[in-house]
Amino acid sequence: MNTFYQMWGATSPNKAQAIISRQSAYETKIDSPHNLEEQAIKQVGKDIYDILIKGYTEKQWGRPCQELPASIINRLPVRFTFDNRYFSDKYQGVPEKGYNHLLNGLLEGIECRLNCNYFKQKNYFDSIAKKIVYTGPIDQFFQYKFGRLEYRSLRFEQEIVPTKNYQGCAIMNYTDTDIPYTRIVEHKFFDINNQASLDLPYSVITYEYPMPFSMYGKQEPFYPINNKYNNDRYQKYRNLAKQEKNLILGGRLAEYKYYNMDEVILQALKQTSFIG
Ligand SMILES: Cc1cc2nc3c(=O)[nH]c(=O)nc-3n(C[C@H](O)[C@H](O)[C@H](O)COP(=O)(O)OP(=O)(O)OC[C@H]3O[C@@H](n4cnc5c(N)ncnc54)[C@H](O)[C@@H]3O)c2cc1C
Repeated sequence: MNTFYQMWGATSPNKAQAIISRQSAYETKIDSPHNLEEQAIKQVGKDIYDILIKGYTEKQWGRPCQELPASIINRLPVRFTFDNRYFSDKYQGVPEKGYNHLLNGLLEGIECRLNCNYFKQKNYFDSIAKKIVYTGPIDQFFQYKFGRLEYRSLRFEQEIVPTKNYQGCAIMNYTDTDIPYTRIVEHKFFDINNQASLDLPYSVITYEYPMPFSMYGKQEPFYPINNKYNNDRYQKYRNLAKQEKNLILGGRLAEYKYYNMDEVILQALKQTSFIG
């Protein structure tokens, strides 16, 4: 509602919904959207699509919104309330002191070896484990037998700025097409209870530049591109994985699915609960 108010001065859900209906009826003239553009206009109207969604999404995915599946935008909840939080979950937040702190606690007393590439010592790891939980790319696990799956990636550019408060929030989105990055992250605002960090006379910020993923570059595969071509290919790998008795393929790379942290943690708990 805050966005609808800033955009149109709409002070009630009815007023906002009436504007969206008018804009979407005029623009799309269809009930079942065929692509991301139509789906977005149906959900939030043409104005918000043009100003907040189009440029950001096209930068992020590197292709026009008309060529992207409607499903990508369904992740974004549309609410007609003055609640500014991103998601609608009852409990929301980030772990106190961050994820490193949480994971260090969870792993206390558990042997953990870092900087090991599973494939470089596969026989050894397979020989010491009853079950393997693999969280890397599924196509790599099967030596790209059915071809490579596609991903989008990001380039991060970090800067220390000589100011206590650079943007006043953890994430600022840049939705214009002519700005090459999509977001600036100001890390101290993830930990708003850490007054000492908020008071520092400088701040660490990170620019996020979307880019294609290539096996030969230095970037990491971040976002699966869940179009039909890739999903069909993924399904072939999945069928192959069913034949592996002692293997659990988990997470965004092995399941070729966009997960948020809460979803991936839930999935991990579900998938590993039967380990003896
Ligand atoms: C830029 C960005 C912003 C995000 N923001 C949010 C957010 O605000 N909120 C939210 O809820 N979620 C967010 N997410 C999503 C969240 O980061 C993921 O859901 C989560 O990290 C997925 O966990 P995972 O275990 O599946 O994969 P990962 O965290 O990628 O872990 C996979 C691990 O497997 C390791 N691995 C891969 N191959 C091998 C190998 N051969 N040998 C050994 N190890 C290997 C990798 O090194 C990696 O450590 C964001 C993601 C990105 C990319």
